[in-house]
Amino acid sequence: MINNTKSLHVLIIGGGVAGLALALFLKKAGITCTIYEAYAYKGEAGSGLNIAPNGMNVLAALGLADELAARGAITLEHCFRSENGKVLARIPYGDINKYGQPGVSMSRATLYEVLTNEINKSGIEIKYNKRLLSINEYSIGVKANFEDGDSDSGDILIGADGIRSITRSHILPQGLEPSFVGVVGVGGFVKLEKVPELTQQDLSSLNYTFGAKGFFGYCAVDRGYAMWWSNLHANQPMSEAALRDTSMDKLQQEMLAIYKDFHGPAAALIKHTERPLRQNISDIQSLPTWHKGRVLLIGDAAHAVSPNAGQGASMALEDAMYLAKLLRDGKDDYVKVFTQFEGDRKGRVEKIVAEGRKRGVGKQEVSPFQARIRNMMMSIFLKLFGIKGIDWVYKYKIDWE
Ligand SMILES: Cc1cc2nc3c(=O)[nH]c(=O)nc-3n(C[C@H](O)[C@H](O)[C@H](O)COP(=O)(O)OP(=O)(O)OC[C@H]3O[C@@H](n4cnc5c(N)ncnc54)[C@H](O)[C@@H]3O)c2cc1C
Repeated sequence: MINNTKSLHVLIIGGGVAGLALALFLKKAGITCTIYEAYAYKGEAGSGLNIAPNGMNVLAALGLADELAARGAITLEHCFRSENGKVLARIPYGDINKYGQPGVSMSRATLYEVLTNEINKSGIEIKYNKRLLSINEYSIGVKANFEDGDSDSGDILIGADGIRSITRSHILPQGLEPSFVGVVGVGGFVKLEKVPELTQQDLSSLNYTFGAKGFFGYCAVDRGYAMWWSNLHANQPMSEAALRDTSMDKLQQEMLAIYKDFHGPAAALIKHTERPLRQNISDIQSLPTWHKGRVLLIGDAAHAVSPNAGQGASMALEDAMYLAKLLRDGKDDYVKVFTQFEGDRKGRVEKIVAEGRKRGVGKQEVSPFQARIRNMMMSIFLKLFGIKGIDWVYKYKIDWE
């Protein structure tokens, strides 16, 4: 039934980072909602993530930062190296005094588990296997139609359905597809015991190695694991069949051909990979609008950012908290709230999306000479400007009061 009272009922499409966090903040704001997720709950879903201090501050506002910091791996610095292991620069990352929270690396499964436990404790309804197909808007409400023939109605609908958002095609029926950024992201998890060469300092850092043939990153995550990630450059996205083929032999051969001579742990991490992942990396630089009528986009649905920025999940968390705050204060004037939300958030997130794309380019294959020059410049700039260049991203804080 469509809710005609003054208090809104919100339909949230997508039970990912943005959708789960939004539901929890709406609960704090006294607003009811239901989450609709296309898939069944996946305990072992996906890759690993580093949540930056700005994202951890949002999780702290939900009372979940301590649990995630205890279960994940706290990261205190970014460490940049050349392929022979020479440290180009170390810059501080998780300065709690400055940012309020450290950065924390974790598996996506852990993040989902912690958020979902909180959803269940809060009594928020989450409906799995509900894939949105289409949306109908009326003067008094909005209706979501699902693939299984069901439908549900509410006052407003928030599309938190990720980079391939169906909600987005309701707002922008002329279509706007995410752009492939020329990178296939590759990575995996490795048991820490398989890489004894990782030092304590490595385990509390985000480690990035820049060589002539490419880029290789690694860090500790939760449950006694490390994760690594790298970019394979490609003119075309990989086919679905090729992405699904994560046979270890092929992945190892492909990656070792590039990274076997990289310093220290690179080859060991590749050799001992469990659950390898390959993903076409796309982004959404700028949409003409994020909302229409009773429907608004948040998270990757509105502004997907390349993993090279390390900020997609944090942006989704910020969106969730800020939107819930505006809805709490704006009562039922959702048009005003949606307009203000887009106006206040767009500049920040689009700057970060652009930065993510730029960082991906810096990780391409170059000649050994170009690599030496690039690494020298990187070392100078990072030592000179270091954390100052990124402070504005980590320092951002939403005041819930
Ligand atoms: C390889 C990789 C590594 C990354 N690493 C990092 C990192 O280290 N740090 C970081 O901050 N970010 C990282 N990101 C980005 C981050 O994962 C995303 O920005 C973040 O997950 C966005 O959250 P979201 O909720 O908007 O979208 P998602 O997390 O994608 O969630 C969308 C949800 O909507 C559901 N859905 C989709 N369509 C429908 C439908 N029609 N009906 C109902 N439900 C639907 C999906 O099943 C999904 O559960 C990485 C991304 C990738 C691909």
